Amino acid sequence: MKMELIPTVQSLLKQDAIRVEGDIALIEAFTKLIDLLSFQYEHPPVFDFNSYPFLDHSARKIPLLSDSINRPLSQQVLYSISLQPERFEVLVHIHSDSTAKPEYTTKPVYTVRKPNLSNLNHALHALYDYIDDSTHFLICQNCKQLVAAELCSDNSCGDFAKTKHSAQHCESTYKQVFDTSFVDRVSITGEVVNVFKGEDEIKFYASSTAWPHPHEPQCYSRVIETLPLTATLDEVHALRDKLEAEQKYPAPCFHCKEEFDEGEAMDLASFVDFDTDEIVCYGCASLHYGVVY
Ligand SMILES: [Zn+2]
Ligand SMILES: [Zn+2]
Repeated sequence: MKMELIPTVQSLLKQDAIRVEGDIALIEAFTKLIDLLSFQYEHPPVFDFNSYPFLDHSARKIPLLSDSINRPLSQQVLYSISLQPERFEVLVHIHSDSTAKPEYTTKPVYTVRKPNLSNLNHALHALYDYIDDSTHFLICQNCKQLVAAELCSDNSCGDFAKTKHSAQHCESTYKQVFDTSFVDRVSITGEVVNVFKGEDEIKFYASSTAWPHPHEPQCYSRVIETLPLTATLDEVHALRDKLEAEQKYPAPCFHCKEEFDEGEAMDLASFVDFDTDEIVCYGCASLHYGVVY
């Protein structure tokens, strides 16, 4: 199963698709863990602020699991989690029939009796992984909507026995109430080359420094490459690895040995009479080579 076809915990939380009940301390602990595992979504750069995209901490919008306590069951709710000291349980709600009266089938899909509370983090991590990897719903590669996996074959939804054309497959299939554009397994931050899944494309970016005013450097995220939203997880990983290998920055200054991002240093080769890939920071360029800004 391709991971990009499976809803993530974050995408479910963002759309009120999870309901949680049970012991409040356990719910709080799970809320904290999910928050921690959402790190890659923590600082998405905003790419249109004053023409210098930057890491906007205030733009962080990760819904908390604790906001889903005792959420009433609706068509939106796909998973119910029950956290009791003596039992962790996950139920899946597969909805059907949108026109007449909404119906759903509920199935227990994950049960741990007597969870090991002395290693709570481990137990909760296993629960998180279960939901994050669970294949009860899939994003149809034809209509791009979320459907019950039992209505899918070959990554597309529909009745294959009755229809010949792939576009017709999807027509009669019930679609779950879910916006699949929230499923993001490609964004990553905290690396040399980071990835951000935007609304229009997947952006690869590196930290850079701009000088809007001579003495006021501004850190920003420079887009160095893009891929269409249809790129697979493997394609994203492959390109990120390639770009990462190509990056010259961050690099240590030849003189002071401190690390600098692009925009904070120059090629040493322009100051010396030997071949070199080393860099020199602006401070050392002034100090050692008399560069004046
Ligand atoms: Zn479909
Ligand atoms: Zn230096």
